[in-house]
Amino acid sequence: MSGGTGSERPRLFAPRRPEDFDALYAGRPPWDIGRPQPAFLALAEAGAVVGRVLDVGCGTGEHALMAAGLGLEATGVDLATAAIAAAEAKAADRGLRVRFLVWNALELAALDERFDTVLDSGLFHVLEDADRAAYVAGLAAATRVGGRCYLLCFSDRQPGVFGPRRVTQEELRASFADGWRVEAIEATTIDTLGERGVVQAWLATITRVEAPGRMA
Ligand code: SAH
Repeated sequence: MSGGTGSERPRLFAPRRPEDFDALYAGRPPWDIGRPQPAFLALAEAGAVVGRVLDVGCGTGEHALMAAGLGLEATGVDLATAAIAAAEAKAADRGLRVRFLVWNALELAALDERFDTVLDSGLFHVLEDADRAAYVAGLAAATRVGGRCYLLCFSDRQPGVFGPRRVTQEELRASFADGWRVEAIEATTIDTLGERGVVQAWLATITRVEAPGRMA
């Protein structure tokens, strides 16, 4: 099976470019379920979403809105202007205060802010390999030492080739090897619209720590 299908994987799992996302938000993309992902709702109910919250690759903002609903100061960033416009409209409709910014997640350091809780729902798994290091470096700059990042992505346990690329636990651990402590990577699911329904996912709980060799 492996012979002859070598060209299939890169093509089918080709990362999307930011401009592709803007076009997708002209319709209703399958991840845009209109409510928080159950995995993040469970974190909120467990009291794990605290302090200043950053929802990175926020789409139409459900997780930032969830944090604001808890009374927290929330920021959502996304490169797709259509998504940010939709998120702002939802905040107005729901009477919630959230700061939504059109911002590149690969340039989080330029925000020059520190957050206590950072939520990544479906961003990491759309990035190209070459962008992962820049993304995680920016996350490190945006997360206070002791702060937590919760990352929800498609897992390699999900069969099929639709949707974003699959991520392994090893890839997550390798990406967060320096300046972070991976507390847990749990098998969970992502809800989507349409025929795919519920897909297999990883939820990573990652604490920002001092990089080795640096004094606190
Ligand atoms: N978190 C949302 C959206 C997930 S889809 C949800 O759970 O519904 C992934 C999102 O990442 C899209 O909204 C896309 O526009 C955004 N995105 C992709 N590349 C990005 C980048 N470089 N910077 C910021 N956002 C990006």
